Amino acid sequence: MLPTSDTLNRVSESATIKMAQLSRELSAKGVNVISLSLGEPDFNTPKHIKEAAKQAIDSGKYDSYSPIAGYLDLKQAICEKLKRDNNLDYKPENIVVSTGAKQSLANVFISFLNEGDEVIIPAPFWVSYPEQVKLCNATCVYIPTTVDADFKMTAEQLEKAITPKTKFLVYSSPSNPTGSVYSREEIESFVKVLEKYPQVHVISDEIYEHINYKGKHISIAEFPSMKDRTIVVNGQAKGYAMTGWRIGYMAAPAYIAKACDKLQGQITSGTNSVAQHATITALLGDQAPTEAFRLAFLKRRDLVLGLLKEIPNVKCNVPDGAFYVFPDLSAYFGKDFNGEPIKDADDLALYLLHEGHVAAVSGTGFGAPECIRFSYAASEENLIEAFKRVKNALAKLV
Ligand code: PMP
Ligand code: GLU
Repeated sequence: MLPTSDTLNRVSESATIKMAQLSRELSAKGVNVISLSLGEPDFNTPKHIKEAAKQAIDSGKYDSYSPIAGYLDLKQAICEKLKRDNNLDYKPENIVVSTGAKQSLANVFISFLNEGDEVIIPAPFWVSYPEQVKLCNATCVYIPTTVDADFKMTAEQLEKAITPKTKFLVYSSPSNPTGSVYSREEIESFVKVLEKYPQVHVISDEIYEHINYKGKHISIAEFPSMKDRTIVVNGQAKGYAMTGWRIGYMAAPAYIAKACDKLQGQITSGTNSVAQHATITALLGDQAPTEAFRLAFLKRRDLVLGLLKEIPNVKCNVPDGAFYVFPDLSAYFGKDFNGEPIKDADDLALYLLHEGHVAAVSGTGFGAPECIRFSYAASEENLIEAFKRVKNALAKLV
């Protein structure tokens, strides 16, 4: 058998995707599993976006390769969105459209990281950040945070983590998996630190921008001293219920965009042409469905926080955005089910799947081994049933 490469061997399988797969396998066997594992809206893509895609297909104009970094009219639409929503001035030369925000992130890491470079990642983090960094043979420097601090890093922690080898800081706000949202003041305190270390660049993952219960989205790129050192990553998956369409993008200084364009030209080429065209309608057309999704998620967040309160020994922050709860369930570690020990979050997530028939993701892959992530992008009915099952399953542990 062909041995896999050292590059691949450095990387773990995506914990979110692995759990979703296990859940699908169990469902295929006829088990009624409620999946709260994969982070994707359970809504359909809004109709006007689908119509735009249908028209694009019928026009015959989207049958060929697109430019590698995306069509010019889409890049212009992204610039318009960045001005409208974020008061950021970018030109098409600053934009690269990719096959999901996941590829936008990989493009930056692969284009700029060398062995030995350090990337600061506040924990908990989205599972793919460290794995993509490891793919580049670079080093992750984690900043631990606690549920009591709403899983937020402080400026002091950030400063302590910076070394001459630091190349990037990467974080998501609103955060996957914690739902935490950094305020303007908090981001400003990071900016004050970063101004002292001009070699550090920021990858600001803003994919949950539109699922924010706290107020207006703040991008670190809005701070003038940071604009030329920030790569804003965003995409259509979450706010527009377009996970399967695979459209992500970055806005960055032109030389960074050019490097990612070069890399993408050797790996995937331009992303799906029809999806690119429909994204113009998504970004510039009616935004009401996106707001309706946000309100629905907020209602579900409150429902789920209430359901969690009914389960003993659960510690949870109040997420201000995204669609996850990330409770600390470590009080259940060290207990047994029918003589089988539940040692950690990985065991507990498997136990909840097999015994409770609820799929959720262990916090281990997110850098928080005491927690489990539940996505509440599911119907209220399913959420009520799922947390009833979780409560019952946990009550069986002794
Ligand atoms: N960043 C975060 C924080 C995410 O949760 C996700 C989830 N998919 C992504 C990036 C990647 O998004 P996409 O589906 O556009 O690749
Ligand atoms: N980002 C989503 C999640 O965290 C989708 C799965 C993935 O791409 O990892 O579950």
